[in-house]
Amino acid sequence: MPIDTGHALAATARDTISETNAAELATSLFGIRGHAERLDGEYDDNFHLIATNSNDAWALKIASRDETEESIALQHNAMRHAGIGNPRLATTEIEGVRRFVRLLEWVPGTLLTRVAPQSSALLSSLGAELAKLDRALLDFDHPAAHRHLQWDLLQTAELREETHHVSDAHRRALVSRLLERVDREVLPVASQLRRSVIHGDANDFNVVVRDDRVAGLIDFGDMVHSATVTDLAIAAAYVMTGKNDPLGAAAHVVAGYNGELPLTDAERRVLYPLMLARLCMSVVISAARRASAPDVAYYRVHEAPAWAVLEQLDDVSFDIAQDVLFSRCRAPSDSGKLRRERAGNLGANLSLSYAEPLHIVRGWKQYLYDADGREYLDAYNNVAHVGHSHPRVVEAARRQMAILNTNTRYLHDSIVEYAHRLTAKLPPPLSVCWFVNSGSEANELALRLARAHTGRSGVIVNADAYHGNTQRLVEVSPYKFNGPGGAGPVRDVHVVAMPDDYRGKFRRDDTHAGEKYAEDVRDVIDATRDGAFLVESLPSVGGQIIPPRGYFAHAFDAVRAAGGVCIVDEVQVGFGRTGDHFWGFEMQDVVPDIVVMGKPMGNGHPVGAVVTTAEIAKSFANGMEYFSTFGGNPVSMAAALAVLDVIEEEALQENARRIGDGLKGMLAALASKHEIIGDVRGAGLFIGVELVRDRVTLEPAGQEAALVVNALKDRGILTGTEGPHHNVIKIRPPMCVSMADADRIVDTLDAVLTSGVF
Ligand code: PMP
Repeated sequence: MPIDTGHALAATARDTISETNAAELATSLFGIRGHAERLDGEYDDNFHLIATNSNDAWALKIASRDETEESIALQHNAMRHAGIGNPRLATTEIEGVRRFVRLLEWVPGTLLTRVAPQSSALLSSLGAELAKLDRALLDFDHPAAHRHLQWDLLQTAELREETHHVSDAHRRALVSRLLERVDREVLPVASQLRRSVIHGDANDFNVVVRDDRVAGLIDFGDMVHSATVTDLAIAAAYVMTGKNDPLGAAAHVVAGYNGELPLTDAERRVLYPLMLARLCMSVVISAARRASAPDVAYYRVHEAPAWAVLEQLDDVSFDIAQDVLFSRCRAPSDSGKLRRERAGNLGANLSLSYAEPLHIVRGWKQYLYDADGREYLDAYNNVAHVGHSHPRVVEAARRQMAILNTNTRYLHDSIVEYAHRLTAKLPPPLSVCWFVNSGSEANELALRLARAHTGRSGVIVNADAYHGNTQRLVEVSPYKFNGPGGAGPVRDVHVVAMPDDYRGKFRRDDTHAGEKYAEDVRDVIDATRDGAFLVESLPSVGGQIIPPRGYFAHAFDAVRAAGGVCIVDEVQVGFGRTGDHFWGFEMQDVVPDIVVMGKPMGNGHPVGAVVTTAEIAKSFANGMEYFSTFGGNPVSMAAALAVLDVIEEEALQENARRIGDGLKGMLAALASKHEIIGDVRGAGLFIGVELVRDRVTLEPAGQEAALVVNALKDRGILTGTEGPHHNVIKIRPPMCVSMADADRIVDTLDAVLTSGVF
């Protein structure tokens, strides 16, 4: 059936009834003296009628000439049944046509569409009021409600035939794809859905708000007998428009509804698909009407916002969306209890972030969601490199898990393919790989390789470096052995200065700073002739440091001249994070002897790797078998391969460069406004904002940094602190962040610093 474009209606009675005519009708038909003001309406001529001698007011509705008596009876009976007003009906003749004139109670207030921002209490009251109406109508029926209506959400099959009205091919494909998905979800359970007469159009133009609560619903002209849950789907769908967090906003409506009229399992299952169906319906019908009535803007008020939501939600998995929608129907999470419970069975030194720890239950792209459905922008997590729960990675790992997971003692394509793909990203002679399960395991193996090759055990490391959690790695991590609970340095580990050109002994104004810091390495290796220099390409835990140019080249020369090997730890920044390069060490035009990888490699699936030269690999292959039960298993390799694919296909390295540059620039501009920002440094999406109490003495503002990070968290942005003084705010988001996210980080930091949290 073709879509009713409303064109004929628009051309009929609209302008024939003036406000004066309407006021006269009110007097002659209902004995009310007042003045009338025209209101918007899709079909009817609607007026706000205000009594001349009192504060009384009504809605006077002159029905379109197509309106039937049955349809009006349906509306009026339903309203009386639900106890909302006592509508009156009369007839008159206008230009020879009999027209129904209705007098309804005026609901004072503002239309929801004009209320911004919309509080959670308001949204929840919308759900509650709609549920009360639906509940009251569960035992109501009327023959006129059993009708065919193009807006009925169970009629999407018809809509699918009309998608050709959408001229943009990309959008047309989006709607077709979504509608197919909706049918797949809804049709199997359609027969189990509760049916009743519903309002049918609780969009934001039909909801009246007073004192931050919904005061009433208006316009009962779309009443129909359908699945009860479609009423909620309609209201929740429109509430999503114009919101930063559309699902979070809709979750309040759902919770309000569920509190008054609990949803059945089948209703829960179809709610989200039906909400999408409604938005699809809105854009398709708008497109159809655009063709036939290009001037009637009222028909298209929801078009642009509905597209925005559809595009935003396009790649959100249905599971996540449903979970967010129902997050407020659950009892609020008791994070206090969960902690207390950790204390019993988990090691006391497993720390939690933030003064009030978060209970995160879901991740999607650059966003995390807590147990209460609150969304956070994750500006901290480099493990979810291509975005939390990336469907491509999830699917690759899931599929392989369902086929086979075993170890490297059997031949398997994936490990070979991955080794090829990974080494193709590295400069020669780095060509031989081992796969492990963590950054620690990778560093541990790297040290074994170095020892096997040089015959010496000693390691040179930067002050405040962190390389992992094993016994030996704690021994080579000054951040740990010099920190709380640390046992101090062991004999064969040598600490050299952190090449920090902001706070260290050689600063940015010294063009030879890199070379000078490298002298420290030369002195140690010359004195000890000890085996390995283990260094992060961009030290993170040590304070988001960007070593000055020349540091690596000079240090590597010195180490190699003394027979040592250079191990670069890329656990933090590898895989394109620095934007201009795939690996951090490339910023310094050097080639390490051994490269260590971890965190981002499997996008959350535990994968690490060590890559070295054929020569070093030969030294290690001394007859003793090397075996890691899980390292290089087919599932890990499938996940890691998918990560490489996504980095390339979504051009994430370029995104890191572009967004990182923009973000760094905006943060630097913020430094001119806030004295406390002593330094902004970074490469791509690896950024540090160092807070100081005094820009001359560089007195670290560690306590302030902690307050800022907690305040950012309270405002929905997750960051952390780093550095020996804990005064460097670390910004290291998933690589898919957008410029809008960058703006949000900067604006929020600005607001926090302006509000003076300390
Ligand atoms: N190296 C560096 C530079 C790290 O930052 C970390 C972890 N923060 C590790 C190694 C250890 O990695 P994992 O926690 O995966 O063992």
